[in-house]
Amino acid sequence: MGFKHIYFDEDVCDGCNMCVEVCMCDVFAPNPAKGKPPLVLYPEECWFGGCCISHCPHQDEGAIKIITPFQMRGSFKR
Ligand code: SF4
Ligand code: SF4
Repeated sequence: MGFKHIYFDEDVCDGCNMCVEVCMCDVFAPNPAKGKPPLVLYPEECWFGGCCISHCPHQDEGAIKIITPFQMRGSFKR
């Protein structure tokens, strides 16, 4: 697909699935393996609003990162 802009840090993410809950675009799905980062099912649906990051209890430790495409950086907010 050539579309990789959402990254989880497996060592930090505890699989709480808060990001799965808050994503209005259903980009993620819970990982069947307990305590593991969510699966990224539909990355092309991401609107880069950053809701998943702002709701993540481990955002400061970098549990989830989204690399915003250059042409969308003006609208990205955390
Ligand atoms: S930035 Fe928004 S649309 Fe993209 S994965 Fe996070 S919550 Fe979903
Ligand atoms: S990235 Fe954050 S909100 Fe999402 S499952 Fe991991 S710890 Fe929870």
